[in-house]
Amino acid sequence: MWWSSPMFALSNGQIATLIAEQAEAHEASVISRSGNVLFVLVRLRRPSGKIVRYHLTIEVDDPEPDVRETTPTHLPVYCPNRHINGGGYFCLSFPEADPLPIADASSAADWWKRLLKYLNLQEATSSLRRWPSTHEWAHGRDAALHQGRAERCAAALGPRFVELLGQRRLKAVRRGGAPTFLQLRDRGRRLYSVWVQDKRVATLRQPCLCGSGLPLVACADHAQRAAELPLALEAWTREEKRFWDLNRERTCCGGLRQCPLRKAEAAGPSQPPLTARAA
Ligand SMILES: [Zn+2]
Ligand SMILES: [Zn+2]
Ligand SMILES: [Zn+2]
Repeated sequence: MWWSSPMFALSNGQIATLIAEQAEAHEASVISRSGNVLFVLVRLRRPSGKIVRYHLTIEVDDPEPDVRETTPTHLPVYCPNRHINGGGYFCLSFPEADPLPIADASSAADWWKRLLKYLNLQEATSSLRRWPSTHEWAHGRDAALHQGRAERCAAALGPRFVELLGQRRLKAVRRGGAPTFLQLRDRGRRLYSVWVQDKRVATLRQPCLCGSGLPLVACADHAQRAAELPLALEAWTREEKRFWDLNRERTCCGGLRQCPLRKAEAAGPSQPPLTARAA
């Protein structure tokens, strides 16, 4: 009985229709439609009031549609630093949310909001010549999943951890002498250690990191969240590295100041993606 199943999947045609129906409410118009492919014009309203027009092609062949500029105009066809995959396809997987398939009008509206945020970040990137550091996005879907985990842990542990994570100050460090421990550090300073094997914080009787005054072990699920945080950070770093290793031989657009890939023109010094920079 499909009507009783929350997992009932819409057809691609139905998803394309949901997206089309939400366009006008999101600074966009559908110019034409061919099967499950939508051609849209986005009139992106920048904070300055300026309108930037993007002609986009939205291909719906699964619940997470593929989007690209119909003709590359504002954006390069490939730049992993800018979250543009090969063929000019936008990498829209948001770290702060789980993958969000379109299933109804409200998820279609969320999808449009995500797309507009992405285009606004692209505009900011073009003027800064770097991805805005206040909106760090993991590169590649696997890394993004771990970033999402890390963000949920930080949110559970309170605003201080959200801020430290947002500023890229937190690092998970395994020391050669004690590889069974993972240390969480704020810049150089040790915050706490986790037993990797047991996935638990070494000092459970310490005051909770959220500032409640309770012992960590007795404060909601904070002991679990605190243990998961450095593990998620470590996995995120590992997946980022794998992402850049896989793309190493590709040539980037050369439009940004710094890029871990070979530049199209002059080869600049490469920089690992996770190097902390002052925001
Ligand atoms: Zn690039
Ligand atoms: Zn991406
Ligand atoms: Zn707590």
